[in-house]
Amino acid sequence: MSPNGFDRVAGQKRVKALIASALGRNRLPHALLFTGPAGVGKDAMAMAIALGFACDERVPGGCGACKSCGRTLRLENPGFQFIQPVPAKPKAMKEEKYFEILRERGLARMRNPYRSVTFAPELTTAPVIGIDTIRGLRQESRLMLFGGGTRVVLISGAECMTVPAANSLLKLLEEPPEDMVILLTSPAPGLLLPTIVSRCQTLRFDRLSESDIETALIERWETQPGKARFIAAMSGGSLDRALELADGDFEARRDSAFQVLETMFEKNPAARIEGTETFLKNTDKAEVQDILQMLLALLRGLQQIRLGREDCRLDSDAARSLAAFLKAHPDLDIDRATRSVLRAIDFGQKNVYLPLILYSLDQMPGN
Ligand SMILES: [Zn+2]
Repeated sequence: MSPNGFDRVAGQKRVKALIASALGRNRLPHALLFTGPAGVGKDAMAMAIALGFACDERVPGGCGACKSCGRTLRLENPGFQFIQPVPAKPKAMKEEKYFEILRERGLARMRNPYRSVTFAPELTTAPVIGIDTIRGLRQESRLMLFGGGTRVVLISGAECMTVPAANSLLKLLEEPPEDMVILLTSPAPGLLLPTIVSRCQTLRFDRLSESDIETALIERWETQPGKARFIAAMSGGSLDRALELADGDFEARRDSAFQVLETMFEKNPAARIEGTETFLKNTDKAEVQDILQMLLALLRGLQQIRLGREDCRLDSDAARSLAAFLKAHPDLDIDRATRSVLRAIDFGQKNVYLPLILYSLDQMPGN
């Protein structure tokens, strides 16, 4: 059997089967809208479809290795247009420089469609998909592709289209060229014009399972297995989030989470408050959220150790520390502690003043 290029998209079995079947019957709709949370593979799937149409080896999803796949990945395939939201050009910046930045970020997405890109520090305004981009797309849509074949347009983050851009795209969707497939991806389809949504066939992408993420991290990003398991457990089903955690200072954050865990269950109330205050004073807000998420993963680890599960989803160092912690706190109410951390995360997301999070953590049962 020839290698299926869709294997390079993590998980998403149901969606893969639907797309493979539609491609096999030559029945892929002219306009598809991929919805679902960030980092679950909507763009990865769309890029795989584009690769497949151009691939010299005719591998559905693209072989990723032939000349044509190389051209698509370098954004040099005239049959593939990748559009993503971009910030406006600063007045003082030369056009050349601006387009170089946009191209570089586009290539970064092609290399790793799971990872979101930032345009900072060069470009700082909110990214949008403007009318000029869609107008350009419509002009090109009137030309035939040299040598025939199917043209693929990927509009990533379609909810960032301005209203004029969306209205312009609507005209294209009303009469899509025969040889064109338009793929829209959006984590927030509620922000799209209903008239656009109604002209697309919507495919919903699920959150990835922990094992999908674990496998992807190990096989594609060469993450050490123990670390991959731990990160998968706290990724919330998003590979973007998982890769962000893997890139960040993972070990330092885990140490901080351990410290918070120790503090939470400190027997002396004064030391408990002091420890929590020190933690908050030295940690910025975004980092607090990360550490709380990691704390949640640690609590799950504690639960699994207590239940005597063989398959402890933690690497051995962390597992040893947790086992020791559990031994020191045999009466620990893990469920209640988990609820408290979830509440603290919720407070944090609602921008509640940090000391209130402290207060919430301070209400730890099980001391
Ligand atoms: Zn190929």
